[in-house]
Amino acid sequence: MDENNGHDDVLVIGAGMAGIEASLRLALAGRHVHLVEESPCFGGSVIRFEDIYPNMDCATCMIAPLQQDLLQNASIDLLTLSRVEKVSGNAGKFKVRVKKKASYVSAETCIGCGMCFEACPVSLDNDFEEGMAQRKAIYVPAAGALPNVPSIDTDNCLRFKGEECNACIEACMFEAIVMDDKDEVLDLDVAAILVATGYGLMDLKPMKRFGYGKVPDVLSSVAFARLYASNGPTEGELKLRSGDAPSSVAVVQCVGREETGYCSAVCCLNSLKFAHYVDHKLPDAAVHVLHTDMCVPGKTHQRFRDKMVEHGADLVFATDVKVGKGSPGVKIAYKDGAGKAAELKVDMVVLAPAFVPSEGSKELADILGVPLDGTGFFAQGGNGGGPVSTAKEGIYVAGCATGPKGISQVVMEADMAVAAILTGTDGGVS
Ligand SMILES: Cc1cc2nc3c(=O)[nH]c(=O)nc-3n(C[C@H](O)[C@H](O)[C@H](O)COP(=O)(O)OP(=O)(O)OC[C@H]3O[C@@H](n4cnc5c(N)ncnc54)[C@H](O)[C@@H]3O)c2cc1C
Ligand code: SF4
Ligand code: SF4
Repeated sequence: MDENNGHDDVLVIGAGMAGIEASLRLALAGRHVHLVEESPCFGGSVIRFEDIYPNMDCATCMIAPLQQDLLQNASIDLLTLSRVEKVSGNAGKFKVRVKKKASYVSAETCIGCGMCFEACPVSLDNDFEEGMAQRKAIYVPAAGALPNVPSIDTDNCLRFKGEECNACIEACMFEAIVMDDKDEVLDLDVAAILVATGYGLMDLKPMKRFGYGKVPDVLSSVAFARLYASNGPTEGELKLRSGDAPSSVAVVQCVGREETGYCSAVCCLNSLKFAHYVDHKLPDAAVHVLHTDMCVPGKTHQRFRDKMVEHGADLVFATDVKVGKGSPGVKIAYKDGAGKAAELKVDMVVLAPAFVPSEGSKELADILGVPLDGTGFFAQGGNGGGPVSTAKEGIYVAGCATGPKGISQVVMEADMAVAAILTGTDGGVS
């Protein structure tokens, strides 16, 4: 206690798989955790998936119990719609300023009934569903998102544009809408900080050769994951824009690898997961996986690949991939293993974009006073060399904030960061 200047609270930034795992473990060890999450709901990327490779475990069954434990844990303060604005001090005695945006809905009185969004007259593309569904100006991103309390998107709410509208207020029988809600500033004293801000995905639109946004039925990997999800825009039905089921699907891996210069680590297994999705829901449909590498290290992953090939997945070595309209369908031109021009015609193309640093990584790194590496992810090591340490003592990092990786490694790093925080070491061999 003394070495921590009278407090031993921990700040965790980002409430995806890494942040949730670390917060629960820290609380179990008797630490008080402030878990800061910028979006209105928590869980990170995993809440968009139906299941998790390589064993196709149900994603909700994995994450929902952890989310419930976290929401009920008195030692964890979950701060959604929040960002870290300022950090000063050193290991054991950091001072942190957090800005929490007003949600305009009281978490104490809201029961999550959804009457307010039914009444709201504004309709716009839902980013969570990659634009394949609509949402209102008062909303929760998807059914099942937690906390199940909506917030008002002030950029699109009519009232915040100076127009007359009381629809949500009138629809709410619990008087939970608080139009005079204010942003809050919280000043926290913490002994250690864990960065768990995850990843983003490369913007597909500027890479014109892949036809994204121009050619119908060319989707991103997340859009395909949402199509398959039972709480997604089609309630799990894999279908084309026309409403018909595709009879052939091609997954294109490593989209943006030339631009990033690194492997995104999960696309190979993810593409095989998508082959499994098609096989599961449309057993008569053909699946082609276009790749330049097939990285399936370890016995479980290799078995998963072999199983998908047995089930008919066609693994195609392809470079110089170009996607265009196929009249009908989609046409893919590429060079095969011998460098010869080849072509494939399919009904649907799924692009697996490269992992990139999460938006705002540079700004957060500057606030914390820690470096990014040459690719823009948080730099690992430096303060003794441990993989969950940063160049600054007392500030740790875990999960995809340092680069692309799958969930099992994310969880291992979160646990390693917890061990480092509890023992006051750098997470490496001192
Ligand atoms: C389509 C697709 C399918 C996948 N399927 C699988 C799979 O089947 N199996 C598997 O092992 N892996 C899979 N992955 C990889 C998996 O998504 C990641 O390994 C894992 O979700 C990373 O967890 P994380 O906590 O590090 O990051 P994230 O899930 O990205 O969480 C980070 C959190 O931090 C928040 N945040 C970001 N910046 C800030 C900030 N400045 N302040 C506050 N909060 C912030 C974000 O809103 C988010 O909630 C898949 C990836 C993709 C793209
Ligand atoms: S704000 Fe009111 S109407 Fe909207 S979900 Fe909460 S309780 Fe229901
Ligand atoms: S006040 Fe805003 S959020 Fe509420 S119903 Fe009107 S437009 Fe929608």
